[in-house]
Amino acid sequence: MTHILVINSGSSSLKYRLLSIGDGDGGGNGDGDGQGTAVRLASGLVERIGEPGSPVADHGAALDAVSAELASAGFGIDSPELTAIGHRVVHGGRDFTEPTLITDEVAERIERLIPLAPLHNPANLAGIEVARRIRPDLPQVAVFDTAFHCTVPAAAATYAIDRETAERYGIRRYGFHGTSHAYVSRAAAGLADRPGPGGPNVIVLHLGNGASASAVAGGRCVETSMGLTPLEGLVMGTRSGDVDPGVLMHLRREAGMEVERIDELLNRRSGLLGLCGDNDMRAVEKRVAAGDPEAELAHAVYCHRLRKYVGAYYAVLGTVDVIAFTGGIGENSSLVRERALSGLEALGIVLDAGLNAAGEGVISAGGSRVKVAVVPTDEELEIARQTLDVISRTDRG
Ligand code: ADP
Repeated sequence: MTHILVINSGSSSLKYRLLSIGDGDGGGNGDGDGQGTAVRLASGLVERIGEPGSPVADHGAALDAVSAELASAGFGIDSPELTAIGHRVVHGGRDFTEPTLITDEVAERIERLIPLAPLHNPANLAGIEVARRIRPDLPQVAVFDTAFHCTVPAAAATYAIDRETAERYGIRRYGFHGTSHAYVSRAAAGLADRPGPGGPNVIVLHLGNGASASAVAGGRCVETSMGLTPLEGLVMGTRSGDVDPGVLMHLRREAGMEVERIDELLNRRSGLLGLCGDNDMRAVEKRVAAGDPEAELAHAVYCHRLRKYVGAYYAVLGTVDVIAFTGGIGENSSLVRERALSGLEALGIVLDAGLNAAGEGVISAGGSRVKVAVVPTDEELEIARQTLDVISRTDRG
């Protein structure tokens, strides 16, 4: 058995999970999802890092807290049995197309990508730096949110803007939530009945606080809804998703808004929150049930956008074997699933109302040509597996 510590270091919080994974089946099978035996030994969350009055002053203190929690669970960060540490890194730019063993040079390259992810990459790096200081002897691996989308073809990844400007500033569609899309699309592909020669075609709808869709053909991502930043695409808890870029110019010229305010408006005060004052889908749906018109409109905009992307990705793929819902909303809201997919019988998509309400596993009707499924995501497990893959390859090499 191999012990992998997964660290997801954000600006004000640090999530961790310690996993014991069977050797020789990295990317193989088990753990209830058909992909390899893994046992969770410990997990937790350190919050309010660096906030005023918080006992956790910085990421160093956060990792000390993790270390103490792990030690009390009987397996400290200094344990000789720990095999490797896997770190989530949000933006890999064009440099990183796969999980990568962290060296000084790799850390510097992640740092150079900060302009592309000014909120996320510095926090991810802080976790990496502290963990490397505490365990310089251990292999540590960076797993990038963008990496799964590196196979998206140029026709889908390229914005139709002046090429020289785009090239100079790294402006293209990168996509995010890649670890989740990788994990869920692989699990969903296993549900396909008779995939075509290239393997199953899957549409993944990752609907959490952030939300993104991807189209995956035979295991390769060919389209995804987030772009240069996680702002593009679906309606989210507080982000707008797609808007006419002309809106930004209009706000600048007519409302005199500075770029920081526009950024804040679109990232933090839009989406469900902006439309109805609630960003939590549970609260929105309670209001929908009570007949609240603002919540109803927010929910309708959310589901309409989702349906539009399903149609678009159907066309991109040509045929679809499985549509998978994941994330807090995708896994729990039968109303979102129903509203996004109802009336699509002509496309071979038929939900079973009872199965949809139950919300576990396959939720499409027996005769539905496209299988629809609820597939709980597990980003930490996927990071652990990819970390194990890298160190096994390094050992062999
Ligand atoms: P994150 O992206 O932060 O990991 P999650 O994947 O946990 O977020 O998703 C959070 C969202 O899931 C919230 O909008 C929450 O309201 C929604 N959610 C959780 N449970 C339910 C439920 N039973 N019904 C509807 N929405 C739910």
